Amino acid sequence: MSKVLVTGATGFIAGHTIEELLRNGHEVRGTVRSLRDPARVAHLRRLADAVGGRLDLVEADLARDAGWDEAATGQEYVLHMASPFPAAPPRDEAELVGPAVDGTLRVLAAAARAGVGRVVMTSSLAAVSAAASRAGDRRRTEEDWSDPDRIAPYAKSKTLAERAAWDFVADHPELELAVINPGLVLGPVQHAASGTSVSLVRRLLGREIPAVPELGFAPVDVRDVARAHRLAMEAPAAAGQRYICAGDNLWFGDIARILDDEFASQGYRVPRRRMPYLMLWTVGRFDREVRLGLDFVGSAELVSAEKAHRELGWSMRPVRETLVDTGRSLAELGLVRPRGAVRSAA
Ligand code: NAP
Repeated sequence: MSKVLVTGATGFIAGHTIEELLRNGHEVRGTVRSLRDPARVAHLRRLADAVGGRLDLVEADLARDAGWDEAATGQEYVLHMASPFPAAPPRDEAELVGPAVDGTLRVLAAAARAGVGRVVMTSSLAAVSAAASRAGDRRRTEEDWSDPDRIAPYAKSKTLAERAAWDFVADHPELELAVINPGLVLGPVQHAASGTSVSLVRRLLGREIPAVPELGFAPVDVRDVARAHRLAMEAPAAAGQRYICAGDNLWFGDIARILDDEFASQGYRVPRRRMPYLMLWTVGRFDREVRLGLDFVGSAELVSAEKAHRELGWSMRPVRETLVDTGRSLAELGLVRPRGAVRSAA
């Protein structure tokens, strides 16, 4: 049993990672920006009670020094997951890049001062193969890096934050670093406020978009991402390594088809028609979340998770299970509602 600090405990991936750690007997401390609203962490408290695990929560903001030394003191591992991940691009990229990079350095410096053994950082495929860096159809590996000068603000924030982390540990060899680079993370949401990435499934089930753009994703289940973090924390050989955790390219249209197959009988009207580029461009003029996708149209996300399979013994559940469980959790939390009649099974 180890003592593990998880930054950004309110997050989608962090919630599942905390569950994974508690179920495997680890003691967890989580950082949150503010403890003033108990509803934001109620799902974590319920989880700890259900598992019978030890969880304490402390306040720390990536944009401030306060709290990080106290949070890291006494911890053997830090899983650094906090980073701004808004649904729509900000007006000023500094809103993302600042907290991502400076916050990462704050966390790493506090970890080094506290004598933490290893930090596992949640980076992203955005730091490996972001849109403008995707040219050609070569399958990307951990050797690849996104070019921060040619990508959108979120991808830039992830690329620069991961670079800053590797630079930091080069100067602090006593601190080990392992990095997880997940693809599009989907899977069951634990509470109503969670998950920028699952908004893609919410938009399809809620028919918030009339047709499906030709966008490619490399999806991964949040429960498998959580396990990857634990494995990278526990495996001695993971020190100094980055690990892509993502499956094969799945087109938005494939996601729509799987959801339609599963949820049409329950009254959901998932769009199946392909959205022409011009329509996407027009919708994107008013919808900044959709505008983000313009750069990716027609390009598949081709990556290899072979290294995580080989070195961590990591595996992924079938993507259909991930999509169905995402949809079910959104429905259970009332985040999507059927729009048509429920078909009888007879
Ligand atoms: P999320 O649910 O939005 O979680 C992000 C977390 O970061 C939240 O706990 C948030 O706290 C915290 N945070 C944001 N700004 C902060 C600040 N200034 N100070 C302290 N905490 C701050 O997103 P997620 O999907 O779980 O993402 C977790 C990590 O995985 C991020 O590093 C993200 O870049 C990475 N990632 C996600 C995906 C994906 O598809 N979901 C894919 C690849 C990588 P509040 O609750 O207070 O806002």
